[in-house]
Formats: sequence, C-alpha cells, structure tokens
Amino acid sequence: MFRFLQKIFRTGPDPARIAAPLWQAVEACQPWLERLAPADRTALRSLALEFLETKVFSGAQDFEPDNFVRLSIALQACLPVLRLGLAAYSGWQGVIVYPDDFVIPRRIVDADGVLHEYEEDALGEAWDGGPVILAWSASREMQEGINVVIHEFAHKLDMLGGEADGEPPLHAGMSVEAWQHALDDAFDDFRDRVDQGEATTLDPYAAEHPAEFFAVCSETFFTEPEILMTSYPEFYRQLSLFYRIDLLEPPGTRETGAHSKI
Ligand SMILES: [Zn+2]
Repeated sequence: MFRFLQKIFRTGPDPARIAAPLWQAVEACQPWLERLAPADRTALRSLALEFLETKVFSGAQDFEPDNFVRLSIALQACLPVLRLGLAAYSGWQGVIVYPDDFVIPRRIVDADGVLHEYEEDALGEAWDGGPVILAWSASREMQEGINVVIHEFAHKLDMLGGEADGEPPLHAGMSVEAWQHALDDAFDDFRDRVDQGEATTLDPYAAEHPAEFFAVCSETFFTEPEILMTSYPEFYRQLSLFYRIDLLEPPGTRETGAHSKI
C-alpha cells in the first residue's frame, strides 16, 4: 500500500469561488441534474462547495485535478447525500484521482491458507476510513444508468455500518427486515439472470456481491430511476427511504431541504 501511495502527486484543496461558466460547464455534463427540483439543485451546489472545502483532492500518475475535475466529482459525490447531509462523509478526507483506470495489488489468503497475489484493474475504489479513489476518464463519461462516482460514495455510506455488505445504517422508522428482504430477493434474481447469460439493464458487476448490488443500484436510482423501479420496485422503495428522495415523483410534490444526519 505504501508503494502504491508513493506514486500519488498531492495537491491541496482549492475552495476558490466557482465562476458561473465553470458551474455551467460542469453541470452540462450531468444530465441527471434535470431530474432535480430547483431547490435541490441549489442545495446540491452548496453541498458541493462544502465538499470541496473539507476534502483533499490528490492526483495520481502526474494527473493534476483542475477545478473542473474537482467540481464535477464533488457534485456527483454529493448527490447521494443531498438529503442526508455531508456528515455522512465525515471521518476521512482524501479523494485521489487517476487519469484513467488503475491497478490495485491484491493479497488474499484462501481457506487453505494459501496466499494469492494478483493485480486488479479498477475504475474506482473506496477504502473504509480512507480515501475514495477514482479514474477521471470513467468519472467524466456518462453512460446510461452508470456513474462511478455515485458507486464509490455509496460504498462509503455502506461502510458507515462496518464492512460493506449492502446494508448501510438505516434511519429510524426503516425496517432492517424489509431492507434485507428487498435486497436479498433482488440480488438473488439478478445473480440468476447474470449466471444464465441474460442481457441486463443493470451493470452485471452488481452480481458480484450484495455490496456491489447496492452500489450499482444506487447509481441507477439517481441517474436512471425508471430502470431500477421497473426491475426491482421493492428495493427501489427501500433506496428511496434511505436516500430520502424519489426522483420519479413530480418535483413539486417532493419534500426538500431535510438534510438530517445518518
Ligand atoms: Zn464497488
């Protein structure tokens, strides 16, 4: 891990005031913003600025995140906590940005005590208590229902309850049983479909683990909610309770401004 970190070129945060053309350029690349009510878009901008002031951006492999990169990542990262508040991302500071996909060295000891060492290509990674690592090429490109930044920050929310397992700490009034039931049913169904080689509307990577299913569903929940609602309405409902927003509701009927902590 130390050798890995040595490659990182560190730059400081830049809480400079954001000029209107920069906001416009960044927001033009995020079509999901159209789904937000005007009050939520304003709240998201404020959260993004706070995010930039409290997180430390670093570039890896000679990549230097400029203001466009930082603001773009901040805006996407704050979408999942629009109704939860930035406190959900407390306890760590780093956002490390690679220019492109990167390699993660892995060391795993199997059940027989044999050590396996290998390298894994990644577009993003979230460390429990540590930084979020992102590939800018993947964070910038928008594909239908796919968002690497939301994915990694959903893992961060999941980790608030310990190891990522697809069950973040739920709010008062939410049912753990209802969450687990909805998650298990949806995950089992999805894994079966992927195993059978079926073409899926969700990223097949979601079949890897319940934690990945939660992260992938979170991407779709915010960027293409119709897809998730159609496939797994019960889990969609649980996500709307957790994230405290339902982007399928007409904006005028949504509650706004409830930035409570989880
Ligand atoms: Zn993941």
